[in-house]
Amino acid sequence: MSRPRRNTRSIWFFSLAAALFVLLYLGTSWLIDHQQQQVLAATQRMQERTVPEIVRLQRLGRNLEQMRHAGEQVLALAPASQRQSTLLLLNLVSHHPSLQAHPQAAPLAEQVFHFLTEADAALSRDPSSVADWRQRWQPLARQLSQLADEVMTQAAHLMSEDLDRLSKVVSRARLQLLLSMLLVGGFSLALLASLHRQILQPLRQIHQVLLALNQHGRVPELPQSRVMEVRSVESAITALQQAMRENESVRQQLEFQAHHDALTELPNRRFFMDQAQRLTQSLQASGGVAVVGMADLDFFKRVNDEHSHAAGDDVLRQCAHILRAALRADDLVCRYGGEEFAFLLPHASPELGHALAERLRHNLAAHVFSLGGGAVLPPMTVSVGLAPLGPDGLEKALAEADQALYQAKKGGRNQVVLHPAPASAVATAAA
Ligand code: GH3
Ligand code: MG
Ligand code: MG
Repeated sequence: MSRPRRNTRSIWFFSLAAALFVLLYLGTSWLIDHQQQQVLAATQRMQERTVPEIVRLQRLGRNLEQMRHAGEQVLALAPASQRQSTLLLLNLVSHHPSLQAHPQAAPLAEQVFHFLTEADAALSRDPSSVADWRQRWQPLARQLSQLADEVMTQAAHLMSEDLDRLSKVVSRARLQLLLSMLLVGGFSLALLASLHRQILQPLRQIHQVLLALNQHGRVPELPQSRVMEVRSVESAITALQQAMRENESVRQQLEFQAHHDALTELPNRRFFMDQAQRLTQSLQASGGVAVVGMADLDFFKRVNDEHSHAAGDDVLRQCAHILRAALRADDLVCRYGGEEFAFLLPHASPELGHALAERLRHNLAAHVFSLGGGAVLPPMTVSVGLAPLGPDGLEKALAEADQALYQAKKGGRNQVVLHPAPASAVATAAA
């Protein structure tokens, strides 16, 4: 069972789509902004905390190295004045804030400074004790080197940790941006597909139907759209199509009535003349032959007088039917007026025309005209005049056929006369 279709106003469809789009846009904008802030925070943290900390640790490392270097110089038996200036420098370095702030470096610096001050005084007194002082210096020098290595490694770690954190934040932001773009792209595609299905496709089908209506071709079926406005257009087109069909049917009826006789439904005289003129011209152009004929019922007035006008009408209808059946499908026939009929037999020799007219005469004579109430008419007869189509055209041939008809009437009726009448051969009267 198919589900009933729900009507949707296009304004609601677009409002819903717009609301969804705004929500999606705001959501993704917030997400992107949030990620950007995280990247910014990570960068700021690097600038404000990590970089100064690294600089501080590097300076501490350099100071420790400098202290070790100063120790080497004091114990290298340099002149007293040079040792003094080294100790002065050492004093400055050991009180540098980077050393004082470090829990291990501060006491070590203190210890180194005292040791070297003491060594300087002792060496001034007894330079030969230098070997002993150098040996005692070794553990302190190692401690200085180790601590310098440690702070340098710590600085390197700090840097790599922060870079690692920043790269994670950046790649998360990239992923979310990609996801947001996919969401917006997917939504836009879905919206376009829906627009195509609900609006553009029905409009294209409406366009095709209008084209078909305009060209009077086969009109394709219109599937019902869910969008109300499109459905209204579809309904209007269906109504228009129905009206056009009715108009066409009325037009065809009117055309038939304009071209045919209402009683016998044979072509009327004017329509016959138009068709016959065209056929005559094409026959003359191609050198074809033809025969024209005029047929008049004999003593038809009696039917009206002895029975009724309605009975006369009925007889006329049946005669028209017999006439049509006696001739060939391509022959043109008409009710010329009253109880007279005209015909044009294309590609017919006078002999063939004569034979066809004879067939008509026989068929009519053999027909039993029964009227209502069991009454039967005496056999009807017909007189026929024929004339071959000559170079002078249709009008002339019809006039000649009329003359031949006159001859047939004059000759006793119920006969076929061919114009020009060869004295004995063409008039065949019924016995
Ligand atoms: P003829 O052998 O000389 O042709 O004799 P006729 O009686 O057929 O000739 P006439 O021309 O004197 O009469 C034709 C009659 O046809 C006159 C008219 O009343 C009748 N008629 C003409 N049109 C119609 C028609 O539409 N219906 C009926 N019922 N009669 C018609
Ligand atoms: Mg008559
Ligand atoms: Mg007549």
